Amino acid sequence: MQFYLRVPYRPIKLRIFYSYSVMLVDSMVDKLEEIRKIFGKRFLDRKEDLIPYMKDASYFEGNIPMAAVIAEKTEELSKLMRICSREKIQVVMRAGGSALTGSPVPYKDSILVSMSAMNQILETHVEDGYVVAEPGVRLDDLNLYLSRLGFFYPPDPASSMAATVGGSISTNAGGLRACTYGTTKEWILGLEMVLPGGQIVEVGGRTLKRTKGYDITALMAGNEGTLAIITKAYLKVWPIPEEIGRILAYFKDVRNMGRSISELKGRGIIPYIAEFMDKLSLETIKKAKNIDFPEGSNYLLMIDIASTHESIDRMLDDARKIIESQGPISIKITRDREEMARMYEARKGLYSSSLGLRDTKDEYIEIGDLVVPPSQLPDSLEEIQDSIGEYNLKAVLFGHIGDGNIHANILVDLNNRDHVARVEKFQMAIAKIALKHDGSVSAEHGIGLEKKELFLEELKERNSMDLLPLMKGIKKAFDPENIMNRGKIFD
Ligand SMILES: Cc1cc2nc3c(=O)[nH]c(=O)nc-3n(C[C@H](O)[C@H](O)[C@H](O)COP(=O)(O)OP(=O)(O)OC[C@H]3O[C@@H](n4cnc5c(N)ncnc54)[C@H](O)[C@@H]3O)c2cc1C
Repeated sequence: MQFYLRVPYRPIKLRIFYSYSVMLVDSMVDKLEEIRKIFGKRFLDRKEDLIPYMKDASYFEGNIPMAAVIAEKTEELSKLMRICSREKIQVVMRAGGSALTGSPVPYKDSILVSMSAMNQILETHVEDGYVVAEPGVRLDDLNLYLSRLGFFYPPDPASSMAATVGGSISTNAGGLRACTYGTTKEWILGLEMVLPGGQIVEVGGRTLKRTKGYDITALMAGNEGTLAIITKAYLKVWPIPEEIGRILAYFKDVRNMGRSISELKGRGIIPYIAEFMDKLSLETIKKAKNIDFPEGSNYLLMIDIASTHESIDRMLDDARKIIESQGPISIKITRDREEMARMYEARKGLYSSSLGLRDTKDEYIEIGDLVVPPSQLPDSLEEIQDSIGEYNLKAVLFGHIGDGNIHANILVDLNNRDHVARVEKFQMAIAKIALKHDGSVSAEHGIGLEKKELFLEELKERNSMDLLPLMKGIKKAFDPENIMNRGKIFD
């Protein structure tokens, strides 16, 4: 008989997600043996093999799951789910483990299913505009493969090196290119899935159009592993633009930066990417990557324009004139690929370079992920900056300005109760700022464990609490035994 003792409760609420202790009684040992037979050496139950599956990229400490399996085939997952639904065993899927909300963090009484080994690109049909991929394919690997054919898959979270097809569908990831191409949900044509009862089904498919009843494919975008296991994805792909050029505009004033993006979009110039970074972000990047910025800059607006060989210079010039009219302190156009790649990587690496701001090693980064209509950005950003001062916190502001997505990397000392409480209040305060400006409390990272309270706040604010039983009803229809990633999104 094996015992899993409850880990002592740490004083700080919310950061640690311990589930009740699990005693592996003999009947459970028998069930696990049944599962071991399906996966053989890919069934893991030694503590040292399970520790890497405790955490995602958030600050939740997580639990050591009862066991983990490394999936290679859909049929194995079907057999697993038949056992788990029969025996009411909890299941948590994990792929790249890069989620920022605790969504793939397991309970002690769950089986963790690693999807990373299902990582093959199965079919390529660029002439029909799609590829078929297994869920464990990493986004950078998919794009490297497609780039050789002159195509790309647009969803581009800054974690694309680790994030996978299945994980990014399940969180409906956005990223840097979302201002033109939208989030992941726009790029899924269809899915193969294993339902909690073990049935293998296909939704959507290989065609760009189809209307047949409820759109279950769309429902899976952002389901956070609470409904079914994605085992295959039909993904739309797009030709790589002929030319991309970049404008780097440095501003003293947040309003002028915000107006630049509204003006560009209002005049029909939709950037390929449009990112902003505040002064602390720029200082962080300078320290980590040795990329300097002009004196007096409080904000950088980084705009990429995609076009043809013939028109790229004209498009960049048109965009430059519009931005110049908003009075930046410095503006620069570049088409130097190396320089552009350096800055792109620096922006994508802002999470890790923000760690350089820590005063002690006990400080973690908690990420705010808000969205407002782009025209509301100047007011929202100003109010968020004021809140950082009011709560006396250290936070880096940056984000995907083209679609109104603001991130705040907030330094939080998990051993300081007062600090943690202030960060929680600040998260609620900035969520309310987003709601006041017609936005949302979660733009692209999902809800997981972290944003459940903020999610409820949004439902209340929009007078839509009746959606909660509806969503729970959908969950129950898929997962009557409540075995799929229990307690994520809502309790
Ligand atoms: C440095 C950094 C930068 C980031 N930048 C961005 C960004 O710019 N934009 C953005 O949108 N996000 C960003 N993210 C977060 C983003 O949500 C995740 O990186 C990504 O979407 C998760 O993919 P993953 O493969 O790591 O999934 P995991 O973290 O392993 O899992 C995420 C969720 O998906 C579920 N899941 C995984 N595989 C399956 C499957 N096959 N079937 C069903 N459910 C499954 C899990 O249970 C979990 O709920 C960032 C994260 C980091 C660490």
